[in-house]
Amino acid sequence: MPELDGIMSQFTAELGEADNERALDDLRVRYLGKKGLVTAQFKKLGELSPQERPARGAELNLLKERVQEKIERRRAQLQSAQLSKPTLDLTMPGRQPQVGRLHPLAQIEQRIRSIFRSMGFTVETGPEIETDYYNFTALNTPEWHPARDEADTFYIDDDRLLRTETSPVQIRVLERGHLPVRMIAPGRVYRKDKPDPTHFPVFHQVEGLYVDRGVTFADLKGTLLHFYRQLFGSETELRFRPHYFPFTEPSAEVDASCYLCKGAGCRICKGNGWLEMGGSGMVDPNVLEAVGIDSEKWTGYAFGLGIERIAMIWYGIDDIRLFYENDLRFLRQF
Ligand SMILES: [Zn+2]
Repeated sequence: MPELDGIMSQFTAELGEADNERALDDLRVRYLGKKGLVTAQFKKLGELSPQERPARGAELNLLKERVQEKIERRRAQLQSAQLSKPTLDLTMPGRQPQVGRLHPLAQIEQRIRSIFRSMGFTVETGPEIETDYYNFTALNTPEWHPARDEADTFYIDDDRLLRTETSPVQIRVLERGHLPVRMIAPGRVYRKDKPDPTHFPVFHQVEGLYVDRGVTFADLKGTLLHFYRQLFGSETELRFRPHYFPFTEPSAEVDASCYLCKGAGCRICKGNGWLEMGGSGMVDPNVLEAVGIDSEKWTGYAFGLGIERIAMIWYGIDDIRLFYENDLRFLRQF
């Protein structure tokens, strides 16, 4: 029958284009489904005379069988092609591994640690949640001192707070009673500062302490000079400006000559040739006596410096908030 031949050749053409199982399923529905082309021919059998019907029925059954058989054969072909497809292509270029690196603040901290270690300092750590005693009282901070103000300090309850500096670690180490002590305490500190280009409520400090027999201000100066020359270059000079800190007496602010312009004035040092680096001084005898150390026999010096401050100076960064935003475009530069 020409009509059935037409259906068969149309089917054969469409079968050749069905290159996946889903297309094959669609094809089966289009020919053998309830409204399929072959099914429609079966429905027409009723219009024929009883004499014509058996021959036509036999032809249709044959057509249906051939369509079914061809679809199944094609399905088997597709499945075996899928199985033999290689899952691993060894000729593909490899994936570039993502190489991480340390945060710029961690890099600076490591540099600071290694310079002080080379001078015989140990690295000590302590809790970030401190008591009022370790954070203020033991450091000789008077009750009236503004640092104790609730507006400046994150208090947890009446006695506990987030440490405002890493100096409490010095008290904890001195309390062990093993002298001499030569240590630095790097770590995170907290203050109620509103974030702006130079302030952030969390930042990093390094406190240093040396207690031994006969330690003088000259030792402090020599140690810091060596440190800053290692950090910023061998031409670096220091100047000490008298200051007040509860923990030390006498006390001084330390400035380093600008590593970039060598004192001539530039963007980094805001034109004045010097960089403010942090506080320092001789440990107040009251602090030593409070932890049971005889201040007639032992003397010491202490100093502090800011890791963010050094990183901003060294890398020429003008906004402290960039360190904490975790923006990879910023971090990848270091
Ligand atoms: Zn400068």
